Amino acid sequence: MSVGFSDDEIRHLRAETPGCAEVAHFNNAGSSLPPAPVLEAHLEYLRHEALIGGYEAQEEAQGRLDGVYAAAAQLVGGGGPDEIALFENATRAFDMALYGVPLEPGDVILTSTAEYHSMFVTYLHRARRGVRVEVVPGDATGQLDVSALRKRLDSDVRLIAMTHMPTNGGLVQPAQAVGEVAREAGVFFLLDATQTVGQMPLDVRRLGCHALAGTSRKYLRGPRGVGFLWVAREWIERLEPPLMEGHAAEWVEPDRYVIRPDAKRFEVWESNVGARLGFGAAIAYAQALGLDRIWARVQTLAETLRARLAAVSGVAVRDLGAVRGGIVSFTVGDVEAARVKAALRAARINVTVSPARGTLMDMRARGLREVVRASVHYYNTDEEIERLTAEVARLVR
Ligand SMILES: *Cc1c(COP(=O)(O)O)cnc(C)c1O
Repeated sequence: MSVGFSDDEIRHLRAETPGCAEVAHFNNAGSSLPPAPVLEAHLEYLRHEALIGGYEAQEEAQGRLDGVYAAAAQLVGGGGPDEIALFENATRAFDMALYGVPLEPGDVILTSTAEYHSMFVTYLHRARRGVRVEVVPGDATGQLDVSALRKRLDSDVRLIAMTHMPTNGGLVQPAQAVGEVAREAGVFFLLDATQTVGQMPLDVRRLGCHALAGTSRKYLRGPRGVGFLWVAREWIERLEPPLMEGHAAEWVEPDRYVIRPDAKRFEVWESNVGARLGFGAAIAYAQALGLDRIWARVQTLAETLRARLAAVSGVAVRDLGAVRGGIVSFTVGDVEAARVKAALRAARINVTVSPARGTLMDMRARGLREVVRASVHYYNTDEEIERLTAEVARLVR
């Protein structure tokens, strides 16, 4: 079994992260601080590209680029690189699967109360022509009620689309239980793992999803501008790519094209090669540390932060869920979240604000206009948590 991180190791990991000397970064759910090997992989490629030419550098890097697909597949427990497509963000990755599921009028999309705005408006957009979107209620802990999901399933339900962890709190949805229900019913299950990739071990076979979308810049600590989609091999050719271009398909006759058989059929040719190589380096970095160790430490630090914040009078911790991860959400009396963020920023502590519109259903149901979001990563320290808590306490009178 794995062991926890020693203080020495954390010191080393922080020394290897240039940003740790500058800020106490609690915006890992927004965009993490990259470690030096990730930064170097990215920058080294950019420098090389500037010297020998973009296409020439890409040709030289082809083997490493292929390796990024293999690494991404391995990271999520997929079958191989042919099941991976790369994009500029997680939203487009998710969309290509969501719009690819064939739906007819009368078909139903089931989802959760905690969806991210970019995903939910996609459901609504797909629902224009007689497709319905239904939200499965949460249980007493706030997570999706799996028995309600099971009861709702009938032959009209063609798609379950759900976030694994929402943008506005530590809730971890019971994805594996949802996956079991989806598999039993033979319903396509698309998981938005944007917040969980790099934070916890993921295994698509265990989760039971048919497609999964994730990003580079959040808990994986990779560069911005890279997202990925994993699609189960047996589903790749059953999804209809909503968009086409000349890398997704080959133009073989003036009036005919042939779509490629692998998941690259969802991609676009032009890409930020250096960022993709940085993404590959970030996967290698996380895997070398061990996702199970990362997950254990993230959970511990988040629970510490919750306890400290809850002990400050006037502060309310807002996280839901039976299982909670690294996102800590809270309100500070009637102090506006933007003020909390600005005050912390002045003290070189990074947090962000989750406004109601980001997760509208959940926030409305709880009567919340906004929350402050402090998302911890394994490289955060107890001392940083103390500083954050002390600064928050100064705002409450
Ligand atoms: C950030 C986020 C997304 C979108 O990821 P992008 O890479 O910005 O497109 C989707 N879902 C959740 C829950 C997120 O937090």
